[in-house]
Amino acid sequence: MSKISGYKYIRTVCCGTQYRHLNFSSISFQQDVYWTDGGGLRNSSLSTYGVKVCNCGEIFRIPEQIKLPIEICDTTNENTPQNASLDDMMRFLLKNEEANTDLVELVRRSMWRVRNDDFREAYIDKSNGEEVKFELDEYAKENIRKLIEFSLKSRYVNYFEIAELHRELGNFQEAREAASRIDANDASLRKVQLELIEKNIQQPTTYTP
Ligand SMILES: [Zn+2]
Repeated sequence: MSKISGYKYIRTVCCGTQYRHLNFSSISFQQDVYWTDGGGLRNSSLSTYGVKVCNCGEIFRIPEQIKLPIEICDTTNENTPQNASLDDMMRFLLKNEEANTDLVELVRRSMWRVRNDDFREAYIDKSNGEEVKFELDEYAKENIRKLIEFSLKSRYVNYFEIAELHRELGNFQEAREAASRIDANDASLRKVQLELIEKNIQQPTTYTP
């Protein structure tokens, strides 16, 4: 259960716009079903990884903004930060193509998941009985390749995600190598990826841990 204990106020670093956001004293993401790409429902915090867009068009995350004490806030201002759209993120990456920052990595990860949302929704809604095809365009593939580069440089490498990214690209050999490096404590996760790899399945898939 999530417990809401009022609002917190921030001022963005980019242009000083004030926003308020819900203050979750305890957030729980209890789920029965998970997606292998870590995505969730469109526009949920799981889907965008907390990547927000400011009124001025800049991309930001709430923790990096200026926290405002309630005394100096305009509490009548009910502006809430919006999740960044695909267009917002593409614009951001165009400007920050070569930047090597955590925010660029987060945006790439978020964009990867948001681009999988179309597939996710079609897959959930199989009401017309049609086979749902998983396809990546060149831009999506390039984004995934860059995300792999970023992820491999992390202090803690998430091999489940690396296996997932390679698998979605159809690079099953690399996916298998990454899956074999998933920590032994996460044997069930390793099994999830290896089974998909054995079947040459590229699409993100739901699983129950
Ligand atoms: Zn701004």
